[in-house]
Parts: sequence; structure tokens; C-alpha cells
Amino acid sequence: MNNPYNSIYTKDLSNKLSFNSLQDDIECDVSIVGGGLTGLSSAIELAEAGLNVCIVEKDYIGYGASGRNGGHLVQGWPSDFSKIKKYIDKKHHNMAWDAGIEAVSIVKNRIKKYNINCDLQMGYVYAALSNRQLSELAEMEKEWSHYGYKHLKILKDRNSIKKFVNTDRYIGGLFDSGSGHLHPMKYLQGLANVAKNLSVRIFEKTKAIKRLDGKFPVLVTSKNYKIKSSKILFCGNAYLENVATKNMTDKLAPAISSVMATEPLDKDKIKSLIPKNCAVADCNTALDYYRFDYKNRLIFGGSSIYSNISPKDATPSLFKKMTYLFPSLNNIGIEMSWSGRIGITLSRIPHFGKINDNIYFAQGYSGHGVALTGLAGKLMAESILNKTNRFEILSEMQHLSFPGGMFRTPVLVLGMSWFKFKDWLKI
Ligand SMILES: Cc1cc2nc3c(=O)[nH]c(=O)nc-3n(C[C@H](O)[C@H](O)[C@H](O)COP(=O)(O)OP(=O)(O)OC[C@H]3O[C@@H](n4cnc5c(N)ncnc54)[C@H](O)[C@@H]3O)c2cc1C
Repeated sequence: MNNPYNSIYTKDLSNKLSFNSLQDDIECDVSIVGGGLTGLSSAIELAEAGLNVCIVEKDYIGYGASGRNGGHLVQGWPSDFSKIKKYIDKKHHNMAWDAGIEAVSIVKNRIKKYNINCDLQMGYVYAALSNRQLSELAEMEKEWSHYGYKHLKILKDRNSIKKFVNTDRYIGGLFDSGSGHLHPMKYLQGLANVAKNLSVRIFEKTKAIKRLDGKFPVLVTSKNYKIKSSKILFCGNAYLENVATKNMTDKLAPAISSVMATEPLDKDKIKSLIPKNCAVADCNTALDYYRFDYKNRLIFGGSSIYSNISPKDATPSLFKKMTYLFPSLNNIGIEMSWSGRIGITLSRIPHFGKINDNIYFAQGYSGHGVALTGLAGKLMAESILNKTNRFEILSEMQHLSFPGGMFRTPVLVLGMSWFKFKDWLKI
């Protein structure tokens, strides 16, 4: 039988919220395509300001990457900040830096303000497998300290990192007390509940199939019902269907990543492997990322494939990676594995923009979307509410198109294989 869940997180939910599909033509101030973290975050910001908002989701909320991810809540932009500085005017550098750091606070504040129970736990380790990676982490620590970020500590050798992750494979790392991890589906359901209580109308099983431009743009949905609004936000990222423009698809590539959940381990075992219960990610291009969850399961992600095709069963390859790091888990059972699409950009800088004055999009969080989706929602709302022009400034960052056109996937695979090969050689 096919697995009815997109991830173990959906299976965990005892009371999953559900919403009816759109059954009429409607009007609102802002309509949003996509019921993931970007869509819900934007909706909450706008509804808190008193706007009438609706969301259309083609499947169910959290169907996309937001309900499948590793749950790592990571500080900052996914690319080196030095790269971002090249793309925006010097006078905006501090704003751009602060925005990257604000992303985690937005999530934490929302969890606190609305009392969302999503197992938030702070503490994060970047693990180095080579001297090159360790010196890059040292550079990162220097750069972040320069901007006043005080939560980093270099783990300079094998013994120092072993106090955080007990494996022989890492030669050192970087500890960040300002990043952490959470249960992504509980967080998302919490946001959906907040949105609902703020009178956001959410329609599941309702696909936006085209847009009609005009003073008031119109979204046409799958059953030909129409939504008329002043603004539209496209929040479909790597799952966006039908309504993406060429500019959006050219700048975004889907990378398939897979995640596996083990059976629950006993507390002593967990303490012996990850004593401080941090989330861990290594520094490879196709990285391993993992953490223990509230049920004491190891949630282990990796096996990125730079194509659009999900593996039939990700468990064997993830199991091999997990036991390479932790041989003592060789006999452990696996509850489930699943895969999903991560939207990446060539520069790893998220792609924010407008199609015209009324239509906004945010995509390409390049593996940092758990935190940056909150920021994207806030920035789009600030722009619509005429509060700041941060969204417009960050939209000015130039993005290169992925090469290859219709041969995009083979070109991407070849390009990424080179980086994976370098990681494998540990150079
Ligand atoms: C396996 C995996 C692991 C990851 N791990 C992490 C991690 O640990 N930390 C981290 O920060 N990030 C991680 N990410 C990335 C992160 O999950 C995403 O960046 C983030 O969830 C994107 O949220 P979103 O709302 O923009 O898009 P999504 O969550 O993908 O939501 C888009 C939604 O739009 C809907 N949609 C698309 N087209 C239409 C349409 N035409 N009409 C109506 N609805 C439509 C889709 O059904 C989907 O539900 C991971 C991603 C994956 C796949």
C-alpha cells in the first residue's frame, strides 16, 4: 500500500487541521498561493495588520517542503554574506545582515506569542570533515563576530566536537547556540491555527491554475472559481505549479533531499551520541543533517539528488550514512523515510521579487527555509503595508539562471557531482 503520509511528521499529528476547497468566487485584499511556511507566515503578518487574506493550497497545508523538512532552524543566509554584499548597495549591507539574523527571532517570537508547541530546542553544530571545511567555519566565525553575532564557538579538533557529536568522523566544527531545531509540522499546524483565528480563509484541494492581470488581479482556481484581490503572493517555492513565470523557474532548481526516522532510542543512547541534543549538519555540498526529536527518534536527512525525481526508497542509502557516523546504530529499526524538493538558487541567496506591482514571490531558500520563510512573509507584508522597502532592496540581488534550459537536470547533476567529488576527496 502507498504511504498516505508525506513524512513522519504528518503521521505524528493526532488532530490535523483540515479546510474545505473553494466553492465560490470570492474577493479579498491579498490572495496567497501555497499553504507552506511562506504562505502562512505572510498571511499571519497581513491578517495581524487587519487585512482580509486567503490562501489556496492545491493539496493540504504542509504538503510541500514545509511538512517534510529536517526541522533545522538555522541562523543567517544560506550563502556567504560576502556574496550578498556584492549584490546590494553598501548602505544596505547592515540591513541585509540584520534581516538574515532576524529570521530565527521571528520564528521564536511567534512560537512564544501564540504558544505553539513544536518542540523547539536551541543548539546547532556545523561539523567539518576536512581541513578546508574547518578553516571555512573559522572564517564564518570571524565574519559573524565582526557583525556582532556572539553565539558561535569554534570546536577546533576531534575531541572538542566529540563533546557535541560522538563520532570519529569529524575533525572539528562550529557550535551555534542561536540556531536549533523544531518539529516542522507542529510548527506549521500551529501557524495555520493562528491564521485561522485571525480570520484568514484557507482553501485546501484548491489549485491556482492561472492569473489574470489588471488593476485587481484575479486567480483562477482548478474548479474555475475566481479570487479577486489587490495583491497576490506566490509562495509555492519548488512545488509551485501552473502560475510560475519563466524568470522564477529559470532561477530555481529543485534538489531532492531525503529524510529517515529511526525507531525511538533510549535516553542513555541519545546522551552517548549527541549529549547536548543539538541539531547537526556537516559541511558537504550534499550534506548529512540530523537531530533527535521529541519521541527520541533520530531524524536523519541527506542523500541530496540534483534532479526532480524522488528515490523509490531512500532508507538504504540514509542507513549507510547514519551507520558510517554511528556504527552502534547498526541494528536499529527504521520507522519511515520520505523525500521532498528543496528550492535552490545558483548563489544560494533566496530569490525575492515582484512580477508586477501587485504580484510578489519568494523562493529559493536553499535549505534555510524553516527560518527564512518567516522573514520572507514579514518582508512581503511590510512592503504591502508600506512599512519598509526591505523586500524591494533584497529583491535587487541579481540571480543567475541555471544553465542548460531543457537539459537543466543533467547539467546540474554534472555540476554538483564535481562539488560532491571534492567533498569526497576532502579537499
Ligand atoms: C527533505 C527536506 C529537508 C529540508 N530540511 C530543511 C531544514 O532542516 N531546515 C531548513 O531551514 N529548511 C529545510 N528544507 C527547506 C524548507 O523546508 C523549505 O525552504 C520551506 O519549507 C519552503 O516553504 P514554502 O512555504 O516556501 O514552500 P512549500 O512548503 O514547498 O509549500 C508550497 C506549497 O504550495 C503549494 N502549491 C504549489 N503550487 C500551487 C498552486 N498552483 N496552487 C495552490 N497551491 C500550490 C504546494 O502544494 C505546497 O504545499 C528542507 C526541504 C526538504 C524537502
